[in-house]
Amino acid sequence: MRYYSTNKQTPPASLAEAVIKGLAGDKGLYMPERINPIDADVIASLKDKSFHEISCIVAHAFFGEDMEQDTLYNIVKDTLSFETPVVHVNDHIYSLELFHGPTLAFKDVGARFMARLLGYFIGKQGSEQVNVLVATSGDTGSAVANGFLGVEGIHVHVLYPKGKVSPIQECQFTTLGQNITALEIDGTFDDCQRLVKSAFMDEELNRQMLLTSANSINVARFLPQSFYYFNAYAQLDRIGKADNPVFCVPSGNFGNITAGLFAHRMGLPVKRFIAANNRNDVFLEYLKTGVYTPRPSVATIANAMDVGDPSNFARILDLYGGGCEDTHKRITSLISGCRFTDEDIAATIKQVFEKENYLLDPHGACAYWALADNLQEGETGIFLETAHPAKFKETIDRILNANIEIPDKLRAFMKGEKQIRSLDKEFRSFKSYLRKG
Ligand SMILES: *Cc1c(COP(=O)(O)O)cnc(C)c1O
Repeated sequence: MRYYSTNKQTPPASLAEAVIKGLAGDKGLYMPERINPIDADVIASLKDKSFHEISCIVAHAFFGEDMEQDTLYNIVKDTLSFETPVVHVNDHIYSLELFHGPTLAFKDVGARFMARLLGYFIGKQGSEQVNVLVATSGDTGSAVANGFLGVEGIHVHVLYPKGKVSPIQECQFTTLGQNITALEIDGTFDDCQRLVKSAFMDEELNRQMLLTSANSINVARFLPQSFYYFNAYAQLDRIGKADNPVFCVPSGNFGNITAGLFAHRMGLPVKRFIAANNRNDVFLEYLKTGVYTPRPSVATIANAMDVGDPSNFARILDLYGGGCEDTHKRITSLISGCRFTDEDIAATIKQVFEKENYLLDPHGACAYWALADNLQEGETGIFLETAHPAKFKETIDRILNANIEIPDKLRAFMKGEKQIRSLDKEFRSFKSYLRKG
């Protein structure tokens, strides 16, 4: 399969190239040239299959031309050794719990898959060491660091803002060692992101070393996220609830919802999607006006969605005609949006906990409310619960006036010893670190 750039100013790439480079040379995002459909009778049979079997079917549609079937299925097996259960919350609303992986966030799926796929291509090509740079406000760093831990030929550098990441999340990427280096930057998340971007643009650095990113611009990270949409559908079908499903996705960089749109394009019978946003609502603005205006992000209690210029917007446009006359119409006929303030989020967490005895995290809370507000007769709502609430313990405790339990899996990270490199926010310090270690 070949991958073209959404900017269409560079020749198409192979899967290996797209995965190693991440971003295309013209700064566009890679898209597969074809999206192979999955037959309706196969979709009807998913209800009798396991998550692993379902994922293999979908993985084959994306990556089957590019590697041996055994290799691909082993990668799937390695990366998806946990469940993504659909849990009934109330009335016609279900939670798709994506937080049963190693770092208790949905990003585990894509990060682990990408690490294995990248590791495979590096080994096959006998390539030099690849350096993965990742800026994080919490969740991305922990999922990527854990996903790539111990993978040969790859070194991961996690940049995070000093004092601005929750203590639990900080432990999840500072205690690993091996091929993971945690870099504490004396600055903000935006400074971290700027350092990473500057490194990708620095010609001298790029001549000396192979640099790549592990966020959802990478096809190997976002495409596998479509697996659990199929798995959710199978679970609903099993209980006779698969008519008119509506998926509601708490969105930041829009990688997760884009994976859902791919699943829909492949034939998954989804009625419509809702993108739930916090106060960072440039996508909602686009739906309303047809004009896309990126803005600097504002800080909220659902901080993994604090994104002012969602990177996967380019992929959504491309999927629906690339900005031609009816692109906006096609997008708005399938996707709606909504926006919630911190007060809305807090009220939802409190209400759903008290009434339904279900504990939402701040991101899932946006998506739950959107469904509760918006679901129509005959529809079944599924919201993606993207992280375990204990990852946001300080926020949840304050809202519920409680002391919520930390799962053992999360607590285990807090026992390790932190290994941290501190850097100021100047690019020359970061560059010198990359060159000399
Ligand atoms: C990353 C993240 C999101 C946003 O996902 P996108 O793919 O960037 O839209 C939502 N919730 C949580 C908990 C996250 O970590």
